Amino acid sequence: MKQFRSNVIRAGLGALYLTGAHNLLRPMFAGAGAIFMLHHVRPRRDAGFQPNAHLEIAPEFLRAMLAHLRARDIDIITIDEVHQRLIEGDFSRRFACFTLDDGYRDNRDFALPLMREFEAPFTIYVASDFAEGTGHLWWIALERVIAKATSIEVEIGRAAVHLDTGTPVARQATFDRLHDWLRRLPGEHDIQREIGALCTRYGVDETAICRDLCMSWDELKPLADDPLVTLGAHSITHCNLARQSEEIASEEMTLGRARIENALQRPTIHLAYPFGDKIAAGAREFALAHAAGFKTAVTTRPGMIFPESAGRLTALPRVSLNGNYQDTRILPVLTSGAATAMRNGFRRIDAA
Ligand SMILES: [Zn+2]
Repeated sequence: MKQFRSNVIRAGLGALYLTGAHNLLRPMFAGAGAIFMLHHVRPRRDAGFQPNAHLEIAPEFLRAMLAHLRARDIDIITIDEVHQRLIEGDFSRRFACFTLDDGYRDNRDFALPLMREFEAPFTIYVASDFAEGTGHLWWIALERVIAKATSIEVEIGRAAVHLDTGTPVARQATFDRLHDWLRRLPGEHDIQREIGALCTRYGVDETAICRDLCMSWDELKPLADDPLVTLGAHSITHCNLARQSEEIASEEMTLGRARIENALQRPTIHLAYPFGDKIAAGAREFALAHAAGFKTAVTTRPGMIFPESAGRLTALPRVSLNGNYQDTRILPVLTSGAATAMRNGFRRIDAA
């Protein structure tokens, strides 16, 4: 098993398909179903520098996934129904659940028509500041800064650092370095101060990004009325909850929800943790979401849903539809659970 495992990990997604290994792994790792995680859905863009490309898929890839699921007679269900099936222990049919984070306008323009065509319900998790038009999408601001700058001067840990943006490889390396640095800063204010300074220095209008990309409350209203759409909470500011005091983290969850409920007059009982990985959501956040009364909360940890997920309703893993892997041959790999099992070192549940 050990040799097999390391071979599979080395070989990656494409090889899982080519070797057919996902078919061997399916009975062990496919679980009851999957919650898919998406961000942007929009046509491919020409720009050479797209360091956030993993956060967007083209409509054709979404269509291919929907067709794949329908062809295999896998139920496409709401997050409410995922909750229902988990608490009732109803695993008679496999399921897929679609969730889209942040509330991007392209979700309405490109995802909604496809979801309608396939009569597939989905959830959009809304960060309330994004709907307000005051949110900070710093990872996109950073992309725009690097795309514009000929080189970047920045102070990291009290040392002046010069970063090259002259070639595609250099731009990507600079993005990775700065993204990593920003994510590790102690607080949201630190991130906002640093990205704000970079935007000013390199002439990027950071305040426009949110309004350009995210749906306003008025735009969300028709979606709230659409029977296919569930709206969930995604905090107020889209901060790293694990880095906040317990009081602030809890407020981000409950006030973020209250703002959605006030603006859209719909009960909001599902949550997605911003960033959602191990450094942004852990045991404390899972407990806070439970205490706040959310029926489910999803992370960005990779994994399928298993019967034992019923005991971890505010720590549900998801399967990313990642823009860097938009090859339709990997669709059966994603629904087999092999890809996420590989990333979890072949444990079914990543409980740490
Ligand atoms: Zn998000």
